[in-house]
Amino acid sequence: MKSINFLIKPVSSMCQFSCKYCFYKDVSSYQSNHEESVMSYELAKKIISEAMTHTEPGVNINFGFQGGEPTLAGIEYYKNFVKLVDEMKSHQKVHYSLQTNGYLINDEWCKFFKENHFLIGISLDGFKDNHDYYRLISKNPTYDTVYKAIQKLDEYGIPFNILTVLTKSLCKRPKELYEFYKKENFEYIQFIPCIDDINNKTPYATSGYLLEQFYKKFYIEWLRDLNHQNMHISLFDDLLNILNGQLPLKCGALGMCQPNFIVESNGDFYPCDFYAIDQYKMGNILDASLEDLSLNNNYRLFNSFDNTLHNTCKNCKYRGICNGNCKRMRYLFVNGQKCNYRNFLEFFIIEIKKEMNRR
Ligand code: SF4
Ligand code: SF4
Repeated sequence: MKSINFLIKPVSSMCQFSCKYCFYKDVSSYQSNHEESVMSYELAKKIISEAMTHTEPGVNINFGFQGGEPTLAGIEYYKNFVKLVDEMKSHQKVHYSLQTNGYLINDEWCKFFKENHFLIGISLDGFKDNHDYYRLISKNPTYDTVYKAIQKLDEYGIPFNILTVLTKSLCKRPKELYEFYKKENFEYIQFIPCIDDINNKTPYATSGYLLEQFYKKFYIEWLRDLNHQNMHISLFDDLLNILNGQLPLKCGALGMCQPNFIVESNGDFYPCDFYAIDQYKMGNILDASLEDLSLNNNYRLFNSFDNTLHNTCKNCKYRGICNGNCKRMRYLFVNGQKCNYRNFLEFFIIEIKKEMNRR
């Protein structure tokens, strides 16, 4: 095994924000023993010890922290975590990342992130009016606070990605969003399509059609400006990597689930953030080894339950570079013989070829 990914939720779904589209509250309602507590020192130690015991020297171990809002665990939680890793690792390569709403980010956090080489994902839904409509704290807007947090990360030279949720309404404003990112000189941007909850519809969810239109229009702006900006869009980077015969970073970009371990604050393990529900619970690290959890039936079921590949995908000329995409996203794009993602791929390839010929 070359790498192993832990996505740790040290406070599970606890968060100061109440974003209108938050899907995590929905997912956690499908966990029968869901708790909102801070992960204990003993539990963090057990996870690290299992990770180190079951991996060989040279393996990349990625510890990603997410929530809820993971900074609510307090900075001491992370200081202890890093200290334990340093004490227990034996030639594995350890990488840290953390996704935050930015609310608590201050000098102390920035110093810590810098010293320990954290990659940060910070949620900003584009320009102020859009961000402040969706991302609220006690019904109050949060844009200004998050913007200051981004400036702080920048000031300390901490690498960060801007994470933007593509709601139905934002998908209709690609040019404005592009201009905003360009004006702000943001370098790394990741789009997160807002999708329906597992069993319920959300009024903010986008559609395959809107995403196709958004991606195409944003892409054209980005492509035309290629010589004048240094903006990396994770979706475009992944597609370019795939077209160049390299592996994409995003889970599911080639239709396959990556081996991920999602860890709740009580030690429960799940195979995917989208499917952190009882049906796919792998067990609890407090009473099982990492090996036991990997052999768990639910985990195997999750990795084999993909019998949902449409005939449209099986016969698609882009199967080699898509293979049905992430199974949670697929339903959004494929409808009968049509696929909005295929339309976008077609467009992406034609336009990049035109651009190359112009050079
Ligand atoms: S369902 Fe999608 S996000 Fe989840 S593990 Fe599979 S490909 Fe990755
Ligand atoms: S039909 Fe769409 S989702 Fe399926 S393989 Fe083709 S592009 Fe991918």
